[in-house]
Amino acid sequence: EQRKLQMLRSATTQTLDGTPIALCANIELPVDGVAACAAGAAGVGLFRTEFLFMNRRDGLPDEEEQVAQYRCAIEAMGGLPVTIRTIDVGADKPLDTRGGADGFEAEMNPALGLRAIRWCLSEPQMFLTQLRAILRASAFGPVRILIPMLAHASEIDQTLDLIDDARRQCDAAGLAYDPNLKIGAMIEIPAAVLALPLFLKRFDFLSIGTNDLIQYALAIDRADSAVAHLYDPLHPAVLTLISMTIREATRARVPVAVCGEMAGDPTMTRLLLGMGLREFSMHPSQLLVVKREVLRADLAALERAAADLVAMVEPLEIKAAFERLGQL
Ligand code: PEP
Ligand code: MG
Repeated sequence: EQRKLQMLRSATTQTLDGTPIALCANIELPVDGVAACAAGAAGVGLFRTEFLFMNRRDGLPDEEEQVAQYRCAIEAMGGLPVTIRTIDVGADKPLDTRGGADGFEAEMNPALGLRAIRWCLSEPQMFLTQLRAILRASAFGPVRILIPMLAHASEIDQTLDLIDDARRQCDAAGLAYDPNLKIGAMIEIPAAVLALPLFLKRFDFLSIGTNDLIQYALAIDRADSAVAHLYDPLHPAVLTLISMTIREATRARVPVAVCGEMAGDPTMTRLLLGMGLREFSMHPSQLLVVKREVLRADLAALERAAADLVAMVEPLEIKAAFERLGQL
């Protein structure tokens, strides 16, 4: 079974009718790039940089250390694109030291608190350091920047202004970077889906973070086992949010990926393809099982079945339709 899967590694990733599908890897540390390449990833769709900042005794990594780490991931991917997500700390991923924020109080609702881009915008010097480091790393290979947890136009505009500031600082210091570097947004708050034109106008690409999108759509703490039974990727509201995002982004010709756990679940591959998804990013260990599903997918049939399924609201009907889709 493992040998058969390994044989898929060199096959072109396309559906039965020849539509190309990009299967990328999620990585947490630069060395994970090795497993990503070994599994035949088309690139890194999500580099969770917060892992470089967590569990440190000696303060946050400085600009030079960050450049070295990002460069390491870029070189491990040997010329394939690397999507570097800016720090996404808070909630289930606490920082030991919150940068310069003294006297930081424990939050009542950390998932709704000062996390991810919200925290970065509250620590602009720390954020600028990371943005300069990512820009400088883009001189060593293809890089994209991905911003987590955005909901407000003001957050988007502040973030894009800081990226411009980082560019100007690099220019002034004579530091090389890719002037065409693409900037993308994670779609992981339901409000972002419902106000998607804000994002489509301002970003080069989108990536749907289903882990948080499900958490926030259903008000289920993704780390709380007492409510884990309610955490349901097939909830009709969740399916509507995901399919709306894919449909509107595709219509606006803005590339869209899914990088949450759903992308690496082979039982979800057909449904996501049927919703129009053409780019998936997942843990490297899932790449070949998902690829096997892609290779035997009949897109036209899946698109019809997914459209029917997304219109349903009754859980039993959804479950039956989901099972039929798995047989197509
Ligand atoms: C997500 O929320 O789906 C995601 C990919 O980001 P993380 O799991 O790192 O929050
Ligand atoms: Mg997330």
